[in-house]
Parts: sequence; structure tokens; C-alpha cells
Amino acid sequence: MSVRNLIKTSLNASGLYSVRRWIAGPKSRRLIILMYHDFTPEVDALPINRLMTGQPTAHDFEAHLQVITNHWRPMLLADAVAELDATGTLAEDTVAVTIDDGYSSVATIAAPLLTKYNVPATVFLITDWIDGNCELWWLDLARLMMNRDWSTTRPAELARILPVDLVDRIPPYRNGDRWQRVTFGIIDEFLRDLPDETIARILNRLDNVLPQPESAISRDVCSEPLSWEQIRALPDLISLAPHTACHSNLSWLPPESGMETINASRERIRQQTGRVDPGFAYPYGNDVDGYRTYGSHLAKNDYQYAVVGRPGPSFPETDRFLLGRTTLSATTHHALIERELSLNLLKSCR
Ligand SMILES: [Zn+2]
Repeated sequence: MSVRNLIKTSLNASGLYSVRRWIAGPKSRRLIILMYHDFTPEVDALPINRLMTGQPTAHDFEAHLQVITNHWRPMLLADAVAELDATGTLAEDTVAVTIDDGYSSVATIAAPLLTKYNVPATVFLITDWIDGNCELWWLDLARLMMNRDWSTTRPAELARILPVDLVDRIPPYRNGDRWQRVTFGIIDEFLRDLPDETIARILNRLDNVLPQPESAISRDVCSEPLSWEQIRALPDLISLAPHTACHSNLSWLPPESGMETINASRERIRQQTGRVDPGFAYPYGNDVDGYRTYGSHLAKNDYQYAVVGRPGPSFPETDRFLLGRTTLSATTHHALIERELSLNLLKSCR
């Protein structure tokens, strides 16, 4: 641990943050919404875990839940929003757990731990992916990274598909996880801001240009979606909410079309499970300004809140359709987790 971390951790342990919070009074009580995606049983359990950095292991998630239940009030996000709406404040500083996309690890890893610690959570589902009607492009990209021979592909070839300045940032090919992880990160970051059709076109062209490896081993590198059977078997403390039918980038859609895919996702959940949460999570979640047009549409369609992917705590006056979310480090270190949560409570980016 660095000296700076050590100082911050001991300040936290000394209770300074809680004293500051106490002096600030009830008006400053905050809601921290945590954002998770996939979980992994152990580090590098699947090859894809070597590409996707920052995924918590079962041990990390358990440590997060221990810290949350020891120091804060865990609450279902929809209930916390209802409390804010009804009373204009929160009875205590509150933490709400949310999990995006609907990976099968929700059933195999997260649900048993949430049950063990009695922590409710909201799972935002990509319903067409669960139905097997669409694939997530970042998993397609991961398959291209893992299963194709990148060693013979020249930068000039890639520059016909990807922007030149991006290709320049890709380090010279080296066999091994590190090169794959860096290259995956560069391409993934570029693709996630593009319209869905452009992403599909680029991946298709990469698929055509990257040769199959000489030893044709197709490894199963990817995480799977939950099945509806697994979803119906989830405990009641897990609430189910829409995340669009196929993870559409809403920044590129008129709100009317955006609402169609959001509502289709909600209807599918209701049809398959008989229950649905009144919330929504914007796919990608970064375009906070672009999402402002959605608030009135969501309210008209009986949604009570929506979450984005940008960090930041929520206050009584925070726009219910632009609630920020925070990611905790993938670590089992209790003091660090506690500090990350405390620092979020101190943030005042209203
Ligand atoms: Zn998502």
C-alpha cells in the first residue's frame, strides 16, 4: 500500500469521515448506487476475465457486502427512491446494489451472496440477449481477440478498418495476455461510442481480415447470459428491470425508438417472470446530457427512476432519471472498500 493510501485509510479508520458526515446533518444523507456487471469465481477463471479488467471475484463481492452491511443501510434502489420521494430525505446513508446486463454469474455467484448477507439488488436485463436473439458486441470482440491470429495482421490492414490514430496506439504484437488486454481495451473504448450498425460493420470486417490460427482451437472464452429459468429462480430480494432489448446506444436513437426498445425489454421481463421493477438503466450510461430528453418519456411510461454509468451519490434533489452509479474496486481489502464508500458520501457534485 502506498503512503498516501495508508494515510487515507488510517484517517478513515479514525472515524474522521463519519464525524464530518454527522456534523453535516440529515440534509446531506446520500444514496450510493453501486454498479456491477459480471462476476468471476476466481481471477482468470475464464480466459475472458484476462481481457475484462476489474471484474470482482466471489471473494471481492463478499467483502463488498460485508462492508456495506457493517457500515451502511443496504436497500433496494426502487425502495430508496420511493423513500426519497415520500419523505424528501433518507433515514440513513444508504447503499443500493445494481447489476447490469444479466450475466449467468448473477445466479451462480451474486445471488447466493446477496441472500447470505440479506442485501437486495436490482438486475437490469438485456432481454434479447437472454432470448438468444442478439449477441453483445464486446463478447464478439473478445472472441476475435482470443481465437484469431493477430500476429500476421499488419497495422496497415487494421487502419483500413479502424482510425489510424487508434491503430497507432495498439502496441506491436506480442504473444500473451497483456497485449490482448491492452488491444482489447483500446478497441473496446473506441467502439462503445459508435452507433450499433457501425460497431457491427467494423467487427464484421475484423472477422474477415483476421486469420484463423493454425491450430484451430476454438476456446469458449465468453460469459453466458442468464436463462429465463435461472431468472425465475432468483430470490425475491433481487428485483428485475429493463436494460433495452439489445443494449442499444440511446445517444443515436430518437427517444420514441429508444422508448420502444426500453418498453419491449420491460414487457418481456413481465411476461417471463410476472414481476418487473419500476426502474431502467441506460446502456453504456455515459451520455448524461443526451439522456436528459428521456426523463419525461420515462415518467410518462410509468418508470420511477433511471440510472446512468457516471459516478456520484444521489441527494433528494437529484434528477430521478439521471441517478449516478459508483464502481468499487475489485478487492477484498475492507479498509479500502470502506474508504471508497466514505469518499463517495463526502462528494458533493450536485
Ligand atoms: Zn449494460
